[in-house]
Amino acid sequence: MTGPAVPSLSLSLRKKVGLATGRFRMISPGDRIMIGLSGGKDSLVLTAALAGLRRRSPVHFSLSACFVDITGGQTDAAPLQVFCDTLGIPFIVRPHPIVGIIELRDERSPCSLCANIRRGILNTAAKEEGCNLLALGHNLDDAVETALMNLFHTGRFRAFQPKFWQSRSGMTVIRPLVFAEERKIEKEARRLGLPVLPYVCPFSVETERVRAKSILDKLSAGNPRIKYNILHALQCLDERDRWSDGEAGSEAPPSEDKPEGEMTWEKLTDTL
Ligand code: SF4
Repeated sequence: MTGPAVPSLSLSLRKKVGLATGRFRMISPGDRIMIGLSGGKDSLVLTAALAGLRRRSPVHFSLSACFVDITGGQTDAAPLQVFCDTLGIPFIVRPHPIVGIIELRDERSPCSLCANIRRGILNTAAKEEGCNLLALGHNLDDAVETALMNLFHTGRFRAFQPKFWQSRSGMTVIRPLVFAEERKIEKEARRLGLPVLPYVCPFSVETERVRAKSILDKLSAGNPRIKYNILHALQCLDERDRWSDGEAGSEAPPSEDKPEGEMTWEKLTDTL
């Protein structure tokens, strides 16, 4: 018996998905995964990646997908239905007038309200379908941009977790694309001819994320490794890198621990 026709993702993308799902132990035997399928390139590539993994992996798990229609039912979801049918993935649509609500309330942070509503709808749909995992399409760039936004606006260097149990809903969120760069996902979505839906949200042009992305693009022009370095920093926040509060570990290190020419705190304050 032949299975559904799963588009063949590039080897490098498959490796990145394998790395994320393996390192963070995202999927266990018998898991029932609901994919948040927005119709954007990320969630479409995620769906293809998980369908491929389901076919190849010795670990048995099930997939279904949910599209939250933020226009309240005005969006034509037929291309997503066809895509999921091709992959043998049950597909459901949950319409909600999120865009209209944001416009009506003249919301100052439309994206956080939108994300909260969509997450609630996805959690409910996942539970109704008997799923225990919710897979989202956040990629490496999303993680780095989130870390920068938090740094600039909250003074904390942190991003979302690749795997995270939500105590309120009891649902575990997984992000298998967290090691995949956005430009590679975009290229892959084009190469495979995935049915990317047009942007329908009027707030998608001038968001904090767009500003963070532009800063990151400028920084990356001078150092192509910068995104990977920021991602690395997220994975190895070191106690020793924290500024001491004057309690434990506040003594100055012995002088032989300071390599010649290293900028010490004393030298730095001299230059201020
Ligand atoms: S850009 Fe639009 S769809 Fe995306 S999170 Fe913001 S409000 Fe929601």
